Amino acid sequence: MAYGLGLLKGMWVTLKHTFEKKDLVVQYPEQRPVLQERFRGTLCFRFENCIACNLCVNSCPNKVLSLDVVKAEGSNKRKLMAYIIDMQYCMYCNLCVESCNSSALYWNKEFEKSTFDKESIKITYERPRYMDELEAQREAEKERIRQEKAQAAASAKKDAAVGIETPAGPSIAEQPKEILTELAGSEENITLLLQVLSKNTVTHDKLLKMIASDMEKAKKVALALVQKALRDSNEGGKE
Ligand code: SF4
Ligand code: SF4
Repeated sequence: MAYGLGLLKGMWVTLKHTFEKKDLVVQYPEQRPVLQERFRGTLCFRFENCIACNLCVNSCPNKVLSLDVVKAEGSNKRKLMAYIIDMQYCMYCNLCVESCNSSALYWNKEFEKSTFDKESIKITYERPRYMDELEAQREAEKERIRQEKAQAAASAKKDAAVGIETPAGPSIAEQPKEILTELAGSEENITLLLQVLSKNTVTHDKLLKMIASDMEKAKKVALALVQKALRDSNEGGKE
């Protein structure tokens, strides 16, 4: 009986909408459609946020994204020269945006992408001129923080040698915003990471040392901790 009632209810909704006098057609292009807040139009890229980690490329099922990366002169650092989005193959699944920890990918509402030549659908973000200067500033800031830490560690060692007890150094939560962003990416990830570390002082101290000695390794560990916390919360939600 319950099955029959459900069927009748469904048919009633269909019938109601069939005879409803509601203007559902938009006279496009004279009239513009009202787009919802989370509408996915065109995938966009923020060059200055990208750390060339390749996570988005690996998460894309349709090989839409590609990075043109070279080795920076005099170091082993990866230098992003161009970011290419071949929109013709994109299926708007959002996996790339979700995988990017640096908020370098986002959607705008631009949906009119018809062209006479499919190659022109491809979007190439060339490396902007200001990137070299911006990266140099970031490196200088990192170096300054590294030096401050090294000095603090050296003076703590000196004090310990003469028997003066020094207070513990700044915790990860007290690190500058740039360090936390580099470590975990988004605000959400930073909050998750700090929650995990607040419950485990051993991991906290190890990661703190790693930040000072090997930032790349620290980033990998932080990412693994965030991903584990996400998995745990998802599994907890399912139970
Ligand atoms: S939305 Fe999906 S298909 Fe499109 S680029 Fe991102 S991951 Fe690839
Ligand atoms: S995941 Fe984000 S930061 Fe990493 S390469 Fe892609 S856009 Fe850049």
